[in-house]
Amino acid sequence: MDEKRPTPPSSTVKIRRTTSSNSGGGSGPIILGKYQLGHLLGRGSFAKVYHARRLDDGTNVAIKVMDKNTTVDATMERLIIREVSAMHRLNSHPNIIKLNEVMATKSKIYLVMELAPGGDLFSKLNRRGRFSYSTARYYFHQLVSALLFCHQKGVAHRDLKPQNLLVDGEGRLKVSDFGFSALHDEQLSNSLLQTACGTPAYAAPEIIYRREYEGSKADAFSCGVILFVFLTGKLPFDDSSYTRLHLAKHRREYQFPDWVQKPARSVINRLLDPNPSTRLSIEELTEMSWFKRSATKGEESNNQQQLFGQGILEKECEKSGRLMNAFDIISMSHGLDLSGLFGGRSKKKKLRFTTSVHVGSVEEKVMKIGKEEGYRVERTKGGGIGLVQGRVVLLVEIWEMAAKLWLVEIKVVDGGQEFDETQWKVMEVGLKDIVSSWYNDDGS
Ligand code: ADP
Ligand code: MG
Repeated sequence: MDEKRPTPPSSTVKIRRTTSSNSGGGSGPIILGKYQLGHLLGRGSFAKVYHARRLDDGTNVAIKVMDKNTTVDATMERLIIREVSAMHRLNSHPNIIKLNEVMATKSKIYLVMELAPGGDLFSKLNRRGRFSYSTARYYFHQLVSALLFCHQKGVAHRDLKPQNLLVDGEGRLKVSDFGFSALHDEQLSNSLLQTACGTPAYAAPEIIYRREYEGSKADAFSCGVILFVFLTGKLPFDDSSYTRLHLAKHRREYQFPDWVQKPARSVINRLLDPNPSTRLSIEELTEMSWFKRSATKGEESNNQQQLFGQGILEKECEKSGRLMNAFDIISMSHGLDLSGLFGGRSKKKKLRFTTSVHVGSVEEKVMKIGKEEGYRVERTKGGGIGLVQGRVVLLVEIWEMAAKLWLVEIKVVDGGQEFDETQWKVMEVGLKDIVSSWYNDDGS
């Protein structure tokens, strides 16, 4: 057995990490009156991620901070919407980072997430060289469990690599960074994806030349690269030339070190099939005896078996089914134009805020204020609330963004000239006690 330390997998993303701790956010700045920022956990291509602590209950979280001035253009805005929307859909799986809250100020966007204090698998591989069989299987099973769930929910990750696989305080794997993910939806004209994305060494070959490709099959290829890296500490395809890298994938030019056992090789070979139509899918992978055998072995965690058992996943699905899907719907349509968050509003046309008060109570509150201010209250076909007074028509819509977190939008749909700042102020004052954070341009 080769005991030499293999070269760690190369990466296009520079990771600088400081040691994680549970000691809270330290004495950094307080953001939005709610969280105290701590040390830098990691730096990605688009964002910095900080350790932070909730001021009210001391909970440790990770906050991904994106600077609108330097990173946010129209494309980025779409990526952020995708990330939020995908994470929202996937919030109930134990191996996927949970998104707690999204906040924005005039200059920044904050994604408040579950903290994964164990760091990412890229750093672990850097330290250890490669994983033992049991460790590799342990993480691989959790990755597959998370991906099955993602694909069932119509989300493909599209940027799978060890840098985006994090570890929580109990050593469990947490898939993160859904910035490139794509949602398949009836609302999308087709389910084949049209953007080239991901990291070259881990990306499926069809991503480069095909205008359209199947996201879940692309994820399967990346899983093959990841399993190879876990077991060998090396990338199967590693070339600074994009063209040669691409050719190597097509010609299946990779070599296993001697110690990689046959059953694992055959799984990797089938995942690294350059042809997506014959490539092993994630679902088929779970049927392979190598995978099944190791799934029941439970070498590092007995709990892992349960992830594949019936109960848990179904229960989690039910839980997430309880959430309204409207946030998904608006994020897929023009509805979630983040223009309110991204500045540039001349005359105020809408008011947005998040609340943790239940949707029914929010509706009651809005209707009460409406009536007190002399509006006629109507239910719209889409389930919203209309407030009508003379020529002024306001539409109130509420979406569930995460468990116990609602986004409320009050929009002037007609008679804007007659609805001025003073009337907005009346609304704001009336709603004040149910608001968690305003989504105003000034970020207040
Ligand atoms: P980008 O989209 O810019 O690639 P990521 O979401 O991948 O940003 O985050 C960059 C890095 O920050 C990750 O590789 C990881 O080291 C760290 N990180 C991200 N999310 C968390 C989290 N929830 N807990 C701990 N560290 C995190
Ligand atoms: Mg990343």
